[in-house]
Formats: sequence, C-alpha cells, structure tokens
Amino acid sequence: MHEMSLAEGVLQIIEDSARTQNFSRVKTVWLEIGQLAGVEKEAMRFCFEAVVRDSIAQDAKLEIIETPGQAWCMQCSDTVQVQALYDECPKCGGHQLQVTGGNEMRVKELDVE
Ligand SMILES: [Zn+2]
Repeated sequence: MHEMSLAEGVLQIIEDSARTQNFSRVKTVWLEIGQLAGVEKEAMRFCFEAVVRDSIAQDAKLEIIETPGQAWCMQCSDTVQVQALYDECPKCGGHQLQVTGGNEMRVKELDVE
C-alpha cells in the first residue's frame, strides 16, 4: 500500500513545519488529492491515522479535498477535465492528452495551535 509512505511523508511535512513555525498541536490537516494521483482516499485516511499516532498530529482531523484531473488535448488545443489517467478527451474522444493537473497530492493547509 503506497498510501502508507505517502502518509509518512505528510507527517514529515507537518513535523518540519512544527519546527519552523513553532506549534505543538495540529487540529486539522487539509490534504489535497488529485483525481489522477492514484491515491485511495479511504486507505489514505487509514494510514494517516496509523502514522500520526503518538505524534504532534495524533488528534488531528484529516480533511481530504479532491481536485479534478486536468489534461491538455492537443487536438482541441484546450484544457479538458478527465476522470482517470488514459481517459479519452471528453470533447473529441482523442487520446493525445497530456495531464496538466490533478495528478499530485499535497498538504494544503494546517490548522494548528
Ligand atoms: Zn480533444
């Protein structure tokens, strides 16, 4: 399950910012997950809860924000929304798509005290 290492990465980010911004408790973590990032939301929740145990974020609530997949269609010369990697263009049905967004996961915001 690669969500486990992703969750560890998230905790790393939290602990790093705790050090630089001097907070000692995290209340909420907003995690942005792109639709094309290949991250299972439920698995992510499960792994997050497991890795934050006994950490600064142990009581933190995890809020997941899903961002839509975006791709550039060469035939349409336009940005289109896609649901999955290797989907066809919803406008022309073509496959010459280049993913331009929604393929990553990042910590958007932390609510701390
Ligand atoms: Zn197209």
